[in-house]
Parts: sequence; C-alpha cells; structure tokens
Amino acid sequence: MTSTNGTIFAIKRFALHDGGGIRTTVFFKGCPLSCSWCHNPEGLNPAREVVFIKNNCIGCKRCLDVMKADQIAGFDGHPKFNFTSSVDFTLLIQNCPANAIVKIGEVITSSKLLETIKSDQVFYQEKGGVTFSGGEPLMQVDFLETVLRQCHSEGINTAIETSLYAPLKKIIPILDLLDTIYIDLKLFNSNEHLFHTGAPNETILENIAYILSSPHKDKVIIRTPLIPGITTSGQNIRAIANFIYECYPGVKYELLNYNYLAEAKYENMETDFTLDRSLEPLCESELKKLYETIEQEGIANLIKVH
Ligand code: SF4
Repeated sequence: MTSTNGTIFAIKRFALHDGGGIRTTVFFKGCPLSCSWCHNPEGLNPAREVVFIKNNCIGCKRCLDVMKADQIAGFDGHPKFNFTSSVDFTLLIQNCPANAIVKIGEVITSSKLLETIKSDQVFYQEKGGVTFSGGEPLMQVDFLETVLRQCHSEGINTAIETSLYAPLKKIIPILDLLDTIYIDLKLFNSNEHLFHTGAPNETILENIAYILSSPHKDKVIIRTPLIPGITTSGQNIRAIANFIYECYPGVKYELLNYNYLAEAKYENMETDFTLDRSLEPLCESELKKLYETIEQEGIANLIKVH
C-alpha cells in the first residue's frame, strides 16, 4: 500500500553528516521508541503538536488578550499553556511576537516533498542526496516508500537513519530503493533495551540479521550512540560487535560519541531531560579501548569518525 501524505517536522538542507556528500535531511514525525537521550524530542509524537518555547518568550502578555479560558493554566513571568485543550492555537501563534508558541509538524504530500528535494539536486553532485531521519521514518513506511520510489526514478541518492524497529515485511519492499542504511543499535541485552528505549530489541536484531545476509548488506552502517553508563560498557559493545560480525564479517560499524546538545531542546519544550546533565563525551583513551574491543571481535570496517 502506498500513501501520498506524511507528517514531517523539519527539513535540513546542506547537511554534511547524514550520508555522503551534501544532503537534504527530512525528519519524519513519530517514533516507537522513547530513548532518554533522544536528540529530537520534537519528533517523538506522531501527531502535529503546539509547543511553548520558553526561552523565546519575552513576557509581553499579548497572548492573554487572545487566548480562550481553557488554553491557559496560569502566568508566572511567562504563560503556562494547556496544550491538551482541543481549542485551535492558531490565533495565539499569530499574535505572539517572539515565536514562543510554535506548531511542530507539517502534513506534506509526496510530490511537494519531492519538489523540495529536487530543488537541492544541483548541490548533490556525485555522492550527495536525500536522507530520511526522524523520529523513525519506518513509522510512516507507506509514505516513505512512495517518496523513495519518486527519488529513485529521479536518480537521487537515498539514505535512511533508522532503529529498524518495524515489521520486516514492511521493510523488505524499500531495501532496493535505498543506497545507504544507517541502523542505530544501542543495546544488545533486550531487557536493558526495553528499560532504556521502551521496547525490547528482538525484532531489531532479527531485522539486522536479515539485511546483513541479503544482497543489501554492503549498504549498511551499524551505529551505536555512546551514552555514558548506558551503552558504553565493553560488554555491550563486544556483544553488538560479535553479533553483527557473525551476521556479516564485512559489516561496517561506527560509534557515535555522546553530545549533549539535545538538553536545550528539552528545556525549551518543557520536557523532562532525565539523563544526568554532567555526562561527558568519551575521551580518546576510552574510545580507543572500545575500538580495540570491536577489532578483537573481527570487525575490520570500523568507522572512526566521531
Ligand atoms: S505573546 Fe508570546 S512572548 Fe508574549 S507572553 Fe505570550 S508567549 Fe510570551
């Protein structure tokens, strides 16, 4: 089944880190996981939503003049909105002079999205193209497939960033349409995966095993985000390295060092950031130790970039 409408929350143009060359990155809204370190909390909810960006608010109270009674829960230097209210927030958004009340998420047609992607095509040159990220692009896999088919017929290079937490039968039809597949594998132990991401990992591991034994295996880059104290144990990295090597000895593997840039987003959205704020990226010697662990498991295609 195909779908011509999807919900996205951002399009980043001229991206350099989401695949080869210069890329346009499209962020799909909605994710089935809920990792405490998520960099894009605005992409978790599949629905469009209105959020209050506290740091933008200048306390002018203009919103108080136009809001309905059930849209505000109080004012304490800045408004406390009741976003569960079913009343339309459009008037508030229009009247806020500081962009403090914003809608996140836009319903877009595949042809409109393709138009945007194609408008950047001149910059892609040999290696560049479009990357689908999120959220989790596979949550809207029918829409994704439609857009991928259109990109494919235009000769546009395509990449996906995914956790692969989706039914395999939904993933198989898009594999031919992808040039690069970044798979985020965070934790090998399923109970730990469930605790830290909200879902067990058996489906993810089965899907990885399938793709790494398919003709698409050389398109895959497995990535583990290094979240200190959660994903960084030698035991976890060894188990992941061992598993993916057993699936395909030529597998590419990359560690992504921790960065805490997401904290500000949580604060802006008044969402709890539950990670320890004092966490630091791993130092060179800690990274070196993990690289050695991976190499001991036989992986030669280790990407040491971040
Ligand atoms: S109108 Fe906007 S900037 Fe002014 S108080 Fe309301 S939310 Fe803050």
